[in-house]
Amino acid sequence: MDHTSAVARGIDPNQAHPARRYNYWLGGKDNFAADRASGDELERLFPKVRLGALANRDLLCRATRHLTAEVGIRQFLDIGTGLPTADNTHEVAQRHAPDSRVVYVDNDPMVMAHAQALLNSSAEGRTAYIEADLNDPEAILAHPVLHDTLDLKQPVGLMLIAVLHFIHGHGAAEPIVSRLLDAMPSGSHLVATHATSDFGTPEQQALYQRLVEQGKSDVWTRTRDEFAGLFDGLELVAPGVVPASEWHPDQGAVIPARSDINVWAAVGRKP
Ligand code: SAH
Repeated sequence: MDHTSAVARGIDPNQAHPARRYNYWLGGKDNFAADRASGDELERLFPKVRLGALANRDLLCRATRHLTAEVGIRQFLDIGTGLPTADNTHEVAQRHAPDSRVVYVDNDPMVMAHAQALLNSSAEGRTAYIEADLNDPEAILAHPVLHDTLDLKQPVGLMLIAVLHFIHGHGAAEPIVSRLLDAMPSGSHLVATHATSDFGTPEQQALYQRLVEQGKSDVWTRTRDEFAGLFDGLELVAPGVVPASEWHPDQGAVIPARSDINVWAAVGRKP
């Protein structure tokens, strides 16, 4: 997308945006100079940030496959979708169960502009896209498109992958996760990943804190305990809370050093 058409769609190309910065780290082309500058600045501090982004995306695929093939989940609410890439949630799910249904939610108009690529559902399944903000779970839960596509009386896979760290503040994410899970029946699963500074040196942690305070990073990292707290009341699927690359790794996968993957991951089942 060029600058002029971006501006016409209400997208500010001069302001770094998480979806486009992540797309840059994943090697995609849907990003602007401001996103690349912000991505490079964070990469200077966390040289392995691209590895973390890739590990996060791989986790999305493995967890979706697990829920579809092992647990039998057939519908997903994927909030903080990101720009379409290879292996979007519905593509992974429908590969194993073609009747899978996925509702995508993101608040970035750029994702909306590319949403067509998320709507190429199999004939047996369905996909839909809602432009909404995770800070307003009521609006998501009340949206007619959600109810047209998913049956909230049946278990749902709630995907909050690399999105909760955009909810800033101690204790700010819990009520949002609880509200979403309250609307879902027993047997629903939460899949979440979250950026962390736990593995950084004290120096890196202090530097990172300064970046957040200066508004140079919009990623609010959480500790392992804070992340695990988001799963209170759920049954954690083994192996529990682990770096994204260590959750059900593919056979023969090379597991990077923990300090290279600054992303916690877990899957929990609603009893
Ligand atoms: N879930 C995907 C993409 C993660 S990038 C993956 O893990 O591969 C994070 C996405 O969250 C971006 O697309 C960004 O636009 C979106 N996002 C950030 N804050 C959000 C909010 N408050 N509500 C909805 N989406 C949000």
